[in-house]
Amino acid sequence: MSPDCLFVIKHYNDYISNELEPNKIERVENHLKKCPNCEVFLRQTKALHSKTISLLRIPAPSTLKKSISTLFEKS
Ligand SMILES: [Zn+2]
Repeated sequence: MSPDCLFVIKHYNDYISNELEPNKIERVENHLKKCPNCEVFLRQTKALHSKTISLLRIPAPSTLKKSISTLFEKS
């Protein structure tokens, strides 16, 4: 495993969330062109990430909303 692979693994989360600095994005993307392992890893993680995000968009059941607002009223 190259230092660039470690770099990708270390920063993939920020990269996927678009929170990585531009110079680091460049390093990740340059590496992805050369390294199929990281390319597959990142593509799968990205797919999983967007799936998770869409799951989070599902509205919470009203009973859950109720118990959360009750919690806030108490504090
Ligand atoms: Zn790699």
